[in-house]
Amino acid sequence: MINYAGEEIKINGCLGCLFAEHKFSLPCGIAYENDKFILSQDFELPIQGFLVVSPKKHIETFGELTSSERIEIFEIVSKTIEILKRNNICERFDVIFEEKINKHFHIWIMPRNKWMEEFGGNIICNIGKIFKYAKTNMRTKENFNKIDEITKLLKSELKK
Ligand SMILES: [Zn+2]
Repeated sequence: MINYAGEEIKINGCLGCLFAEHKFSLPCGIAYENDKFILSQDFELPIQGFLVVSPKKHIETFGELTSSERIEIFEIVSKTIEILKRNNICERFDVIFEEKINKHFHIWIMPRNKWMEEFGGNIICNIGKIFKYAKTNMRTKENFNKIDEITKLLKSELKK
């Protein structure tokens, strides 16, 4: 995998499990974790405020979470969005559940940034182009610093 900063991470196995077990790290570190869940910047996308929350246990679908785990993961999503909004990272967010076959279940917290609208029409329809644009054009020192800052902000706010 190439991480958001353009560095190659050489690992074999489930990325979600390995990240939960601290077998690899991201330059910005972890925004929040407890015994069941982990929150961080998206592994691959250098987009400010693009966060991923996953269960630490290996599951592939939302339905495999218990009802109390579902409440807890939504609580993390909602607190994260509230902090990002309050600190003017972005005003609106899309929350996307990824249930890929043979992949660790995770929830994307995706900011609806102004620049994404330049691809025309619906942001979700253009998600592939948006990701490609970010990977090609947004790997800048300035952007990495901002991602570090956002992670630090979430870290201090979420442990309260
Ligand atoms: Zn896994």
